[in-house]
Amino acid sequence: MDEFSFIAKYLKPLAAHFPGSLNLSDDAALIAPPPGCELVITKDAVTEGVHFLGSEPPELIAAKALRVNLSDLAAMGATPLCYFLALMLPKNTGEEWLENFAHGLAQTQKEFSISLAGGDTTATGGKLAISITAIGTVPTGQSLKRSGAKEGDDIYVSGTLGDSALGLELLQQGEHDNHFINRYLLPQPRIELGIKLRTVANACMDISDGLAQDLGHICAASNVGAVVYKDQISLSDCHPAFIAGSGSRDRRGMTEKALTHGDDYELLFTAPLSKKPQIEEISKSLSLPITCIGKIIAGNTVKILDASGTEMILSKKGFRHF
Ligand SMILES: [Mg+2]
Repeated sequence: MDEFSFIAKYLKPLAAHFPGSLNLSDDAALIAPPPGCELVITKDAVTEGVHFLGSEPPELIAAKALRVNLSDLAAMGATPLCYFLALMLPKNTGEEWLENFAHGLAQTQKEFSISLAGGDTTATGGKLAISITAIGTVPTGQSLKRSGAKEGDDIYVSGTLGDSALGLELLQQGEHDNHFINRYLLPQPRIELGIKLRTVANACMDISDGLAQDLGHICAASNVGAVVYKDQISLSDCHPAFIAGSGSRDRRGMTEKALTHGDDYELLFTAPLSKKPQIEEISKSLSLPITCIGKIIAGNTVKILDASGTEMILSKKGFRHF
């Protein structure tokens, strides 16, 4: 299938409901922010062998590529608007793969009310790479940033951490279709939570590279330190089979993964004690656990304490590409 047929048959329908896309027929798109709003713009690229294995169904590869971008919009408190897709396709990619890939985008678009607005498709002699630029909107001045954390703030995390790390491990061992693998393959961007946190959180980001490292980013941007209570980190209720197994399938291994492995795409945020009732209300309204895991303190380091108050030394802090 040639490039122009692919665009006409599979990509144009994804842009049909966004007038600014000009039906993918012009040189560029036109976007005006709604009155009183700023545009929030993010780009995340994913490559075969680094972010996904390549053997996953194309629907899931497409969905994850878009979802990791949506997670960055959530982190800023933005409402999704549109996205741009650059697709670097290995030369022998067949039509069935392309069709399923477009289907994965369509499903994700529907779930998160976002639309394709433009992009580019090229062939590559290398591996599959997908680069997406996502655009959202936020009322002017209300975006969430990493730089607003204040001494005395509580530190919160949504959902559970470490599931995705375990999922990847199970996938690599040949297992498929369980809770942990689904968490790895199909992250859940916390869009609704981000929007509700606009007037609640002092600082916010999404956890993509591991809690320990990402909290370090908030501390650096806000010029503060943090203490995290290891036992307060929310882990999935493990099936006894996981705990009985060897290696990382135990609770201690899970906690280390929860601290250092990325791909959780939960929101990490700080808020003053006075916002606690509102946070509990938000958690209830979204049916999403939100756990207080520590406190912002003076200084510039992130300390992780175990139940006895001993500082935990991590073998690595989080994911780094290089
Ligand atoms: Mg992020």
